[in-house]
Amino acid sequence: MIIVLRPEATKSHADDLLSRIESLGLRPLYMPGTERVVLGAIGDERVLERLHLENHPMVETVTHILAPYKLVSREMHPHDTLVSIGGAAVGGSQFVVIAGPCSVETREQMGRTARAVASAGAVALRGGAYKPRTSPYSFQGLGLKGLEILREVSDETGLPAVTEVVEVTDVELVERYADAFQCGARNMQNFRLLKALGQSRKPVILKRGMAARIEDLLLAAEYILAEGNPNVILCERGIQTFETATRNTLDLNAIPVIKQKSHLPVIVDPSHGTGLRELVPPMAKAAAAAGADGLLIEVHCAPEEALSDGRQSLYPRQFATMMEELAPFVRAAGKTLA
Ligand code: PEP
Ligand code: MN
Repeated sequence: MIIVLRPEATKSHADDLLSRIESLGLRPLYMPGTERVVLGAIGDERVLERLHLENHPMVETVTHILAPYKLVSREMHPHDTLVSIGGAAVGGSQFVVIAGPCSVETREQMGRTARAVASAGAVALRGGAYKPRTSPYSFQGLGLKGLEILREVSDETGLPAVTEVVEVTDVELVERYADAFQCGARNMQNFRLLKALGQSRKPVILKRGMAARIEDLLLAAEYILAEGNPNVILCERGIQTFETATRNTLDLNAIPVIKQKSHLPVIVDPSHGTGLRELVPPMAKAAAAAGADGLLIEVHCAPEEALSDGRQSLYPRQFATMMEELAPFVRAAGKTLA
């Protein structure tokens, strides 16, 4: 950490700050210049947060050297982390595709969709039982019944089950039925939910909030890791911008940025990222080319009848074609389609 003092700061102000830095176990540095005094703190500067040095009237600026997140950071953990969803490894050299409908609707809908995505090469099945909807009048999900259907179909097809949890009080129940939690965009900064997910050891697919910076996403993941759950997969799903041609703006920059800053796997959801099924395959390929570790794709056996997100859901045949066309992009990025 670099601390620049105001021009009127005296030697005694500097000494006071240096001793506070030293009291927390860091090595203080005193660097007097011709016009300003600069102080340094060597060691894990995150402990200095407690001192709130930026509030000191003689401190002009505080510049952090380390990322504010520690466990999530590549600085601390240079190698890629692999997260296993019911036996399917996400991260490293693997490229995985998780697919299924937005919502669990019926046993038949889940069965038909799951068999289709399994035969096209998906490694896990998605389907929401608790749906966070913009309107209270929209389909809210089947709740427990949805979890039961998802589990049954998951067991029948051998595809691990991924489903969203929206409330702290549902974490235990969802954990009994799912192989991985999805923490949705609207809950990315529900810090109590993040802490509860950190108490579990099941993988968490943490989706980027629609107005969240990449740093906010990484700090949200830090909440989960700090509670002891290392199994976090980050998911870029588009952010809200001034653009109205698509539902969201899929920020593929996030992939290489996150890869630089963190060791956690990154997957991309081009379904919510675009909102339009015809845009899903091209953006899925772009995500693979940019180095993503996988995809989360909405597929429905009959999208025209879907109770949520039908417009962005692929028909099973489209999904199968997309999987075939994806292969060269995955290979070009140096990965293997799992
Ligand atoms: C979903 O995956 O269906 C969903 C609600 O996603 P998000 O949280 O990204 O909006
Ligand atoms: Mn959806």
